[in-house]
Amino acid sequence: MKIVMLGAPGAGKGTQAKMIAEKYQIPHISTGDIFRSNIKNGTELGKKAKEYMDQGLLVPDELTVDLVTDRLGQDDCRKGYILDGFPRTIPQAEALAGALAKRGEKLDYAIDVDVPDENIVKRMSGRRACTGCGATYHVVHNPSKKGDLCEVCGEPLVLRDDDKPETVQKRLTVYHDQTQPLIDYYKGQGILKTVDGTQPMDAVFTAITRILEV
Ligand code: ADP
Ligand code: ADP
Ligand code: ZN
Repeated sequence: MKIVMLGAPGAGKGTQAKMIAEKYQIPHISTGDIFRSNIKNGTELGKKAKEYMDQGLLVPDELTVDLVTDRLGQDDCRKGYILDGFPRTIPQAEALAGALAKRGEKLDYAIDVDVPDENIVKRMSGRRACTGCGATYHVVHNPSKKGDLCEVCGEPLVLRDDDKPETVQKRLTVYHDQTQPLIDYYKGQGILKTVDGTQPMDAVFTAITRILEV
């Protein structure tokens, strides 16, 4: 099963992708997580990506596409995968389609987690990310049982630099300009499914599993 998650920043793509990956035993591939781990490890890619991420801009396609297509060629991806945060532009989607076609493969579903902008800004101010393992929490909707520390690894939780309100606003503009066109792109391919992302997390998950199990 090859799935792409679509949706605005903060719509809940990562939250749902982790649950789906676990239920269906497929890898969860998040370009945001890959960039953040490169930043943490001080790699050249991390240094370049950070300049864009801090401004709420997309990392250029040239730095993003090969990273993902290489990852999809690894053994654990043979049974499928869930892509979270990629593609984010039409050229990325076309590059992905091309790489898959070369292997005689195609995507099964593009799932759009639909959440209006008003809800997003509120949600992002409550998101907390683990500095150790990248796990994500929400101060109200999904608090850590260990308070300011990660339940999984015990490291401190922080508000991501790019989750500050000014940057969130910029990311939403970038989303509408560059990423939202993918909704029509995948609709045209007949694989778009939309779920109401304003529901509680469990209800969103149930809606997605219904789509995947027909
Ligand atoms: P969110 O989950 O809030 O949407 P991500 O973790 O997916 O955020 O992405 C954080 C940042 O990483 C983005 O704002 C962007 O700068 C960069 N990024 C992640 N994925 C991509 C991508 N496919 N193309 C370009 N930039 C990306
Ligand atoms: P994305 O990967 O799309 O940027 P996340 O999965 O990181 O989004 O979710 C953004 C924030 O909203 C996180 O703090 C997360 O815990 C919270 N969240 C996710 N899904 C829901 C939901 N259905 N209702 C309320 N809060 C949610
Ligand atoms: Zn952690």
